[in-house]
Amino acid sequence: MREVLPLSGFGDETMSDIVKQIAQRLRVADGRCPNGHSLMTKEKTLDGQPAIKLRVTFGGHTGTIYLNPFYGKFEYESDIQLERGAVVDLSCPTCGVSLKVDDYCNICNIPMFAVHLPDGGQVEACPTVGCHKHSLTIVDFDQQLERMYVDEETKVQM
Ligand SMILES: [Zn+2]
Ligand SMILES: [Zn+2]
Repeated sequence: MREVLPLSGFGDETMSDIVKQIAQRLRVADGRCPNGHSLMTKEKTLDGQPAIKLRVTFGGHTGTIYLNPFYGKFEYESDIQLERGAVVDLSCPTCGVSLKVDDYCNICNIPMFAVHLPDGGQVEACPTVGCHKHSLTIVDFDQQLERMYVDEETKVQM
């Protein structure tokens, strides 16, 4: 049986292993634009969950893109043609505000875009089609960690 690890000592697992395990279970359930509009839609589900709906602009065309809400998944559906390597512009479908942020993708060297989370954190991703750069900022990360391990413990006991 897997032991529930205290936050202060991670045994033989590195911090990055732990973060990876947690990230795989994370889903954006309430993503918003900087003006507070929900970006979640039930029009489209990906992996059985409401997708993130954004306005996408590329090559003079503007359309809609649906992103998989699970962290680390890069599945999308768009009604405009996107090719691998295309750098898209993403904005809020309600108010049109750009989701571009000041953090740069360290692979493509261009600004990332962000989906804001209700606790003040955000999920950032690279706007290059095919680039798998994602980063996650969670305010109060320790509390999130703790809660997830509690969930795991509950599951083991059941
Ligand atoms: Zn908005
Ligand atoms: Zn990138």
